[in-house]
Amino acid sequence: MINLVIFGPPGAGKGTQSTRITSHFDLFHISTGDIFRKHVKEETEIGLRVQSYLNAGKLVPDDVVIEILGKTIDQETSANGFVFDGFPRTINQAEALDKMLSQKGMQIDIVISLVADEETLIHRLLRRANLEGRKDDTQKVIEERLNVYQKQTKPLIDYYDKQDKLSEIDGIGDIDEIFEKRTKPVIEKTLKQQS
Ligand code: AMP
Repeated sequence: MINLVIFGPPGAGKGTQSTRITSHFDLFHISTGDIFRKHVKEETEIGLRVQSYLNAGKLVPDDVVIEILGKTIDQETSANGFVFDGFPRTINQAEALDKMLSQKGMQIDIVISLVADEETLIHRLLRRANLEGRKDDTQKVIEERLNVYQKQTKPLIDYYDKQDKLSEIDGIGDIDEIFEKRTKPVIEKTLKQQS
């Protein structure tokens, strides 16, 4: 059992690395952004509640996110471990996650922090806008999301560093190479230490 947080600003490559980690190590991928986008698309009650936050690039209130995340973990009783992608995004969420996991005899084992400069992030997000047509990948909303990251999410680096769980990874370069040469070895090392 290994539980990971994939951490980083919008455009750092969290989703891409999460997909590779999940399939290579046979883990369960939880992307709160994907969960919310699905709700919005299906126009569920949650979808209608969170839509305006997503469109504006603001964070969905902690209580809503924490409840959804708790339900997802509870449903996946047979998972070998989780890859948390886009969660936690506030200290409050991180504390709630630690509490939820410890109640199940689990913990976050490693936090992979993907690092990229702002110019690269904006460039990637604008390119993704053309490819995927995400509503929040416009210049204005991208700027807001980067702002929100700096103010509300970045303090988590210190939170996980204090717990000695943080591994910084250079998120610039070829996607496969980032996984093979940077992300995978860090996870393998943690697994080795566990055994
Ligand atoms: P993402 O796909 O991770 O970039 O998330 C897209 C949007 O979903 C964010 O801009 C937020 O509006 C919302 N969201 C996703 N995860 C969270 C979270 N952990 N806390 C609050 N809002 C979130």
